[in-house]
This record gives sequence, C-alpha cells and structure tokens, in this order.
Amino acid sequence: MTGEKKVYKCKYCGAEFDKPLLLAHHVRAKHKRAKKREKKGVEVEKRTDQMNKAVEAIGILKGLQVSPSLSAEEKKILGDVSKRIEDVLLYLQKVT
Ligand SMILES: [Zn+2]
Repeated sequence: MTGEKKVYKCKYCGAEFDKPLLLAHHVRAKHKRAKKREKKGVEVEKRTDQMNKAVEAIGILKGLQVSPSLSAEEKKILGDVSKRIEDVLLYLQKVT
C-alpha cells in the first residue's frame, strides 16, 4: 500500500469511483444508452442514404425505359429490374 488512493475515472463525464465495478456500473447506467442511440442514428442515416440512392436508380431505370431506341424486350428487362429494386425498398421500409 502506498497510501495513495486509486480512483477510476469515467471517460465520458469525468466522475470518479474508487472501485472499477462502480465505474462499470455507472458507465452502463449513464452512458451506454446514449452511445447506442448515437450509433443507431448513424446507421439510420446510412440506410436513408442507401434508400435515396436506390430511389434514384429506379428513376434512372424508368427514364431509360421510355427511351425510343430500346427494344420491347430491353424495356421489359429494365421494368423488371426497377420492380425488383422497388420490392427491396418496400421490404426495407417494412423492417425498419
Ligand atoms: Zn460518467
């Protein structure tokens, strides 16, 4: 024993604890939820970004679909592909 008291400092708010268990408990109670929420926010943002890109892709495909230089078969393929992307988007919106 050196006589010096060891303290465990919270890296989020600087609160001090004399036992690591108390610090762990504090972090779990006070900061874990905020951290999780922050992470979820980033994920939602990423997902929204991806969805916007998919909507944009559908727009491009639909624009191509009405092009007079395409054969009926090519137009059908473009229609099928955009339908497939739309289905994925609908599914994602449902599970979000
Ligand atoms: Zn803290």
